[in-house]
Amino acid sequence: MQKARISQLHFLKAAVAGNCLPHALLFSGNDEQKKQLTAFELAKTLLCQSAEKPCTKCQNCLLADKRQHPDLIFVRPDNNEIKIEQVRDLRNFLSFKPALAGCQVIIIPQARLLNVQAQNCFLKTLEEPQGTAYFILIADLASQFLATIQSRCAEIKFCCKNEIKLSAKDRETTADFFKAPLIEKFLTAGRFFAKDSQSNKDVFVFLKNLIIYLREALLRALEQNGGAVSELKETTVRAEKTLYFMQNTNINQRLAMENLILKFS
Ligand SMILES: [Zn+2]
Repeated sequence: MQKARISQLHFLKAAVAGNCLPHALLFSGNDEQKKQLTAFELAKTLLCQSAEKPCTKCQNCLLADKRQHPDLIFVRPDNNEIKIEQVRDLRNFLSFKPALAGCQVIIIPQARLLNVQAQNCFLKTLEEPQGTAYFILIADLASQFLATIQSRCAEIKFCCKNEIKLSAKDRETTADFFKAPLIEKFLTAGRFFAKDSQSNKDVFVFLKNLIIYLREALLRALEQNGGAVSELKETTVRAEKTLYFMQNTNINQRLAMENLILKFS
């Protein structure tokens, strides 16, 4: 039988019970549904004042379920952007004491849409002592935020299971690519953009495999206190950003791939 994994929610609930939950959390990774559900369940756990949290029966739980709890705020984008005015409103909300629960919970479901001014304003909030407020930022990657925000948040990763492990064949192909001379890397990448290539799906799969391979290498380097840690970390973040921009913007994909490869040398 497979060893049961401790879920992120289980871990977070234990932190609430132990009174050691960090006030600012950043949920990252590609398992969108799990990130959103965990954020909401965690909010209920924080707001519920019964012994067994969340009890699903008390006033706090019932109001949270109806999205009507006065101490639970969702900051959602306005016209595809979270603006500084919204963060100022949030700061105003935080200047009041919790209305019903023992704390206030702020969930930002699409936190990558915080624009730079809003992030800077939000940073001020994170820098102030946070007695009773908890923040949950939900995004794909931690690198979507200013470094100053990243450093103030505890990151919790959520990845779909099928993304975690590479098949033996994929591992071999990816390792061969990683070890190949620069010119060969360019040739491999070029094949994805050849006219007869089916679609850009191939390049996304390839990049995803590469990211898993890099993460595994980073983990090994961390375990062995290897010298390549910072280099691997930088390359992994760069690969994650490249994939993100290729999937979500109209960036020139071939150029983006080539820029990434150049950083490998
Ligand atoms: Zn309750």
